[in-house]
Amino acid sequence: MICLDRLMLEEMVLEAKKCSVAGEVADYIPALKKANKDTLAIAVFEGENTCSIAGEVEEKFTLQSISKVLSLAVALMDRGESTVFSKVGMEPTGDPFNSIIKLEHSPSKPLNPMINAGALAVTSLIVGDTMEEKLGRLLSFVHECTGNQNIGYDEEIAQSEYETAFLNRSLCYFMKQHGVIEIEVEELLSLYTKQCAIEVTCEDLAKIGYVIANEGKHIETGRQVIPLHIARVLKTFMVTCGMYNASGEFAIRVGVPAKSGVSGGMMAAVPYGPGIGIYGPALDETGNSIAGMALLEALSKRYDLSIF
Ligand code: GLU
Repeated sequence: MICLDRLMLEEMVLEAKKCSVAGEVADYIPALKKANKDTLAIAVFEGENTCSIAGEVEEKFTLQSISKVLSLAVALMDRGESTVFSKVGMEPTGDPFNSIIKLEHSPSKPLNPMINAGALAVTSLIVGDTMEEKLGRLLSFVHECTGNQNIGYDEEIAQSEYETAFLNRSLCYFMKQHGVIEIEVEELLSLYTKQCAIEVTCEDLAKIGYVIANEGKHIETGRQVIPLHIARVLKTFMVTCGMYNASGEFAIRVGVPAKSGVSGGMMAAVPYGPGIGIYGPALDETGNSIAGMALLEALSKRYDLSIF
């Protein structure tokens, strides 16, 4: 337990919030433009109903790229490592999340599951007879990790992304041509945009992070929600490619497995420690929450959370 001081957490949020002015909310998905750039919220879950919160924690936001960690967990449980990693690699790219460039150099599989191409390939592997069933399995997984059965997806944001996902569409068609994706592209895009639009609070995110941090076990039910070796795979990808092309600097400055999304969400999983959920929609040029990064860095330094 790091025994967080609530007042200090609030002070840290106020301090980190100042960074938001230098960031911008994502606008390439039109519905994300509505986010309030000054929002900053954090939840730190340490198990046994110990959750420290500060900032606008009642705000809901969509998972976006954070969902890539969850779809990877489900696909690995469904299909096993050898099938999943025959379709997607394990190497960081150093390129932006939506980059197409390396795909052409290695058309047999995208480099990792945290870039869009790799995540689309992973989502295509989730088992289910229909897209609804696949989405339902992903949502049940989220319900189980959070204990919150009310979590669903934001239809407006899913639709807004589906209608404008020209780059992701082209990545899919390229991969379909090369046999990486076997299902129908439009069906996959519809599933993927709903997956990205799953709507949570910081507290939900902190609870998911906690399961990943603590060997995949659920603290309250004691159930092994994610097999131990898969929880390790998730944390490793979070360290090597969770923060887009800022993952190296993040590892040095903060040093905890984390995944961000263009909505401004961030999920951190400190091995054998807390799960952390942050929401701050003002993004820096790499697509990470600018105030969220500052807040997590301050928290990591203060409580010596780096795993390195
Ligand atoms: N749905 C977004 C996309 O595919 C997720 C990107 C992100 O959060 O990095 O473009």
